[in-house]
Formats: sequence, structure tokens, C-alpha cells
Amino acid sequence: MENKHVIVIGGGLAGSEAAYQIAKRGIPVTLYEMRPQVMTPAHKGGELAEIVCSNSLGSLDIDTSGGLLKSELQRLGSFLLEKAVDARVPAGHALAVDRKKFSQSVTEGLSKMENLKVVREEIKKIPQEASVILASGPLTSGDLAIDVMRLTERKNLFFYDATAPIVEASSIDRSVVFSASRYDRGEGDDYLNAPFTKEEYLRFYNALIRAERVPLNEAEDPTFFEECLPIEEIASRGERTLAFGPLKPVGLIDPRTGERPFAVVQLRQDDLLAENYQLVGFQTRLTWSAQKEIFRLIPGLENASFTRFGVMHRNTFVNAPLVLERTFQTKKRNSLFIVGQLSGLEGYTEAIASGLLAGLMAVRALLGQPLAVPPPTTALGSLAWAISRADFRRFQPVKFSFGLLDPLEQRVKEKRERRKALAERATQDLETWIQRYSIL
Ligand SMILES: Cc1cc2nc3c(=O)[nH]c(=O)nc-3n(C[C@H](O)[C@H](O)[C@H](O)COP(=O)(O)OP(=O)(O)OC[C@H]3O[C@@H](n4cnc5c(N)ncnc54)[C@H](O)[C@@H]3O)c2cc1C
Repeated sequence: MENKHVIVIGGGLAGSEAAYQIAKRGIPVTLYEMRPQVMTPAHKGGELAEIVCSNSLGSLDIDTSGGLLKSELQRLGSFLLEKAVDARVPAGHALAVDRKKFSQSVTEGLSKMENLKVVREEIKKIPQEASVILASGPLTSGDLAIDVMRLTERKNLFFYDATAPIVEASSIDRSVVFSASRYDRGEGDDYLNAPFTKEEYLRFYNALIRAERVPLNEAEDPTFFEECLPIEEIASRGERTLAFGPLKPVGLIDPRTGERPFAVVQLRQDDLLAENYQLVGFQTRLTWSAQKEIFRLIPGLENASFTRFGVMHRNTFVNAPLVLERTFQTKKRNSLFIVGQLSGLEGYTEAIASGLLAGLMAVRALLGQPLAVPPPTTALGSLAWAISRADFRRFQPVKFSFGLLDPLEQRVKEKRERRKALAERATQDLETWIQRYSIL
């Protein structure tokens, strides 16, 4: 293993998993973590793999998206998932952890590994020598973020989170919401459209401008980017700004009335299976309870079930389809990998998943073995494929859901049955990949 060495920058969820996978395979790793000397606005201590917010890693049920992803991680011997299960606290079907126990046991476990050295130091520039895995997360420190900006030619790096809420397709009232593209351009049913009468719009507007917002952390930059203003900020500029802006009804006719509505909320399909739709232009920093209450005032969304709420906090992530291969290698330098939230994935389990995959890929690259991520019919593979083949013009962080998987060859109408079939196929295909490339 002489001359073979990997540098991992960032001892969060992705970096810790990557470092473990590499060291376990006998390749020396140096893991750089800047805490506790230099802190981020969200982390509280110096342990590795600190969980910054909710202590839940989501469901463990195999017929849920979180459960399928975790079962694949377990099959591949994820170190962080093992530690999460050890630190589990009661939370129904969800894997919630005692965050202190979790991060302490990850820190302890990694510190004992023979080939792994943990160095507490802030890295300010991406090292040019050796194989490097960049896992510095959504709160990457300043100098390093500037260097990433150089690498991604500035325009391909985002410093803010702009996620809009996503709702389950089955919870949308299709007797009110209609399919259409503006001026009938596109495929006709590219968007779902929730039409407002004037009265409905004013009720929504008045509730929106008064709704509770999540206060910004002192350390966060309160300046919003014009292209990505929260919906409530746009609304606060005047009664009609939404109706002339993201809710403009031009080119749309409500088939129930044969007329143009006063305003329209467009919903865009969010996954291949059309199980989820995102509210277009609805990036927001309203509290989750306010989002539930206010967005259900939109006609047709009265019973909306939210797959994901909108969030707005500082978030550094690359425009993955422009910057990354599906192996998490950068297009410009194949010995440099970007993982975790910085790679354009969203969520704790997704961060662990990308760390695991990139760790495997870095080892294979050093050993001269072929690089191949799992197929897009698996949860792990679908994440890798999703970031590399997404539309770069509207790239937003990717979270795993069944809709990311390649569709089944034969259509299964019933949701539970469909998910079961997708999960079974994923499990089989992961197994085939493991055998084919002798992964374990
Ligand atoms: C405020 C906030 C709340 C979130 N809440 C949730 C949630 O509830 N549920 C969820 O699923 N996801 C949440 N996320 C999103 C995401 O899943 C987590 O941020 C997750 O921890 C990402 O994993 P990561 O490994 O990419 O980054 P991190 O876990 O943040 O790890 C990055 C590590 O790199 C270190 N680092 C940064 N810069 C340097 C440097 N220059 N040199 C050395 N080390 C450096 C940091 O100290 C950190 O330890 C949240 C994100 C944020 C910012």
C-alpha cells in the first residue's frame, strides 16, 4: 500500500463513513476535522459525526424510502449505521439516536483504527497531492469554500438553501388542480396547477404575510438572493407581487370555468414515478407548522400530505450534474471526490450513503479496479445517478425517495405493492452488483 493514501476533509457523517470504509480496506487515511478549534454555526462540540438538528435518521421499514436506503447501507457494512443502531432511542419505526452516544462511539471507533489518523485542523485549500475526499458539509468554512468556488468556476456553487415543500401526489385534489403547461407548451401535463379566485388568493396572501418564520441564526447571512427569495419575502413587498410573480396565471385556463384564474400555484413533478410534486417558487423559511397551515389554503391542497417541508438556511453545495461523475469524482480531477451535503445530497442517511460509496470508489481507484456504482434500480445507486444526471438548470439537493428509482418494467398501480416490488428488485440488484465487483 505504499504511496497509497487518502485525505478526507471533514469528520461529519459523510467523511467519517468514507474514512472508515477506506481504512477498513487497509489503505491509510488522514481525516481532517476543524472542530473543536474552529466551529460551524450549527455544531455544538468536537466529536466526529455530530448530528446537527433532528436526532432521527428516518424510518427503518423496508417499504419506506428511508428504510430501503438503510437496509442497503447495512448490507454494505456501514459503520455509522451500526453505531446509530447501537445508540437507538425509542421512536416507533424511526431510527432516532442518542446523539451524544452516537457521535462519541463513532469518534472512539475511528480513533482506534490502525490505518486512520484523525487530525484536528481546518483545511483552507484542497490538497493537490494524494486522493482527496471533500466532505466538509453544508457549512464548509470560508477559505475552503472559496477554493471549492474556484474549482467549480464560481457559478456552480450555491451558498443558500432554496428548497420548496414537496407534497404527495395522492393527497392533491385533482377535481380542483388541473394538468397543463403555460400556453400548452411542453407535454401538456408537465405541471399541475392550483387555481385561485381573487377571494381565495387574498385569504392566502393575508395568512402568508402574518405566518411565523424560523428566526435566522445570528451567524447566518440575512441577505437573500433575488433569484431565490422566500415566498413570504416576495409577498411582503405588496398584495399583488405574488400574482404578478411566481403565481402569475398567464397562459393557463381553468378547465372547470373556461377562464384564466386570478392566480395559480404550479406544482412540478419531483420524481420519476410522479409520487411527489414540488410547489414551484415556494422556497420558504416559515416554520413547518405554519407551512402546513398556510399551504393548505391553496385550492386543491386542503389535505396535502408533505413529503418534505421547505427550508432556508446557509447551505453550500455544488451543482452536481455539472461538477461530479456518478462515482462522486469531480469531472476536473478524478482523484478528488465530493460527498455529503456538499455534493448536492440532502439528509443524514444520504450523507452516510455517499461517504460509503465514495470510500469504496477511492479504494478501487487506488487499487486499479474498475469503478462502478450500484445500478439506478438500487437506493444507493439511484442517489449517485440522480446527482449526475439531474437537470443542472434547476438543480436542488437530492433526497432519496422511491421516485428516484428507475421505473419497474411492468406497471404496478397500487402504491404499497409497487414499493414492495421496487424494494425487492433493489435488494436483488444490489446483491448482483456486490458479487460482480467483489465489493465485500
Ligand atoms: C442547520 C442544519 C440543519 C439540518 N438538519 C437536518 C435534519 O434535521 N435532518 C437531516 O436529515 N438533515 C439535516 N441537515 C442536512 C444534512 O443532512 C446535514 O447537514 C448532514 O450533517 C450533512 O452531512 P455532511 O457529512 O455532508 O456534513 P457535516 O455533518 O456537517 O460534516 C462536515 C464536517 O466538516 C467539518 N469542516 C467544515 N469545513 C472544514 C474545513 N475547512 N476543514 C476541516 N473540517 C471542516 C465540519 O466541522 C463538519 O464536522 C441539516 C443541515 C443544516 C446545515
